[in-house]
Formats: sequence, C-alpha cells, structure tokens
Amino acid sequence: MTRLEHLLTALRKHYGPLPEPPSDLFTLFVWETLSWHATPKKRDAALAALERLRVLTPTAMGRAPHAKLDAAVAAAGPYAEQRLKALRRVVDAFRERPDFPTAIRAPVPAALKSLKGLTQMGGDSGAYRVLLFAGDHPVLPVSASVDRTARRLGYGVPGRDFKQTAKNVREAVASELPPTSDAYRQAYVYLAHHGLTLCKQADPECPSCPLKRDCPGRKALFASGGSGDRAARSPLEEM
Ligand code: SF4
Repeated sequence: MTRLEHLLTALRKHYGPLPEPPSDLFTLFVWETLSWHATPKKRDAALAALERLRVLTPTAMGRAPHAKLDAAVAAAGPYAEQRLKALRRVVDAFRERPDFPTAIRAPVPAALKSLKGLTQMGGDSGAYRVLLFAGDHPVLPVSASVDRTARRLGYGVPGRDFKQTAKNVREAVASELPPTSDAYRQAYVYLAHHGLTLCKQADPECPSCPLKRDCPGRKALFASGGSGDRAARSPLEEM
C-alpha cells in the first residue's frame, strides 16, 4: 500500500462513507451547474426539486415549463439566471450530439475537447469530474480544496498558474494510486471533503486531523505561525 492509500484509508475511517457526484452524464452536468457558488445543502435541495419534477433527462428538461425550472433551480441560491442558461446549453448540446456519452469515453484529450463550452461553471475541475464520474476515466479533478489538501500532504508543487499546479498535483497523485476510476473517485471525494471540513484554507483544524502525524503541510503551517493561508477563498468557490 502506498503512503497516499494509507492517508485515504485514514480519511475514510474518519469521515465514514461519503456521497459521490452522480454518474449519469446529464444529471452530472445538472449537478455541476447547481454546485457553482452554492453550498452542498442548497445544491442537493435544487437537484431533489428537479428530480421531483422528473426533468433529469435532456428531453424532459427541454420540454419543462420555464417557471417550474426556475423555481427548482432557485433553491440552489443566487445566479439562477446563469444556471438556467447553462442548463439550456447542456440540453442543446445533448440534442446536437446524441453521441455525447460515447464521446466522453474517448481518450482523455479528445474527451476533454468534447466538453468544451459546457463545464465553464466548474472550470477544468468540472471537466475532469465529468470524465471521472460519468466517463470512467482514472483522472483526478483538482478543485481548490483537492489542490490545497493534496499539496499540504506533499503531493504536487505550485506551478506558474492554477492549471500547471493542478497538473503537478495530478502527476504526484498518479504515482501513488492504482489506475482505476474507483481509486480516483475515492481519492477525489475524500480529499475534496477533507479540504472543506478540516483542512480549510484559513485556520485548518490540524489538532483534530486524522493525518496530522504524517503531514508536511502541518509543520509548514506551524512554522509560519500556525494560522494557515489567510487569503481565504469563499467555501463556495471550492468545488
Ligand atoms: S494536518 Fe492540517 S494541514 Fe495537514 S491535512 Fe490535516 S488539516 Fe490539513
């Protein structure tokens, strides 16, 4: 077992089972759209409202009355108009490209290309989430919380921009994970959750962390005064 696998086992033990993003491609796009600048609680409330309306297919959503969609999407919080526009783009894309579910299972560069224009809300991290959860690719979506947690644990060095840093994190993690989508899904879910709960941007709760004995980041934080990086990002930007 590699060091990273040990760390992930400790996180699983600490947090218990955690939900994963949806694996159905269309539902995952909807989930991404609702997640943007929303708390998980509000996102899940909006997704449940859409489920109750039975509009979680491109055809059903395309036919749904605007007012009904509007009310369900509003449960995610602000930016309802942007979310609705993004959902319309997704519905159109599914209409124009019935081969979508196959396209995202193509080799990674081609699969990423097929998502162009559809995952702006989640950025590169959103595109990689689609590849991992709906396309079965063993790739790591590097959200802000995954980036922070992984690097504090010693996986990846900062690059010239977030894209390069995310690539460094993916490469470092790949050297210690089996190349299966299951392993990558677990890694994403637990690193992201840890970054939102204990390993927060400002004031990480290291004394309560199950990984504190094997965390180079903790030592660095304490050496710099123990406060962590105070240039805090809103938790809503961490998806
Ligand atoms: S010990 Fe602190 S910095 Fe390290 S993973 Fe845990 S919360 Fe994050």
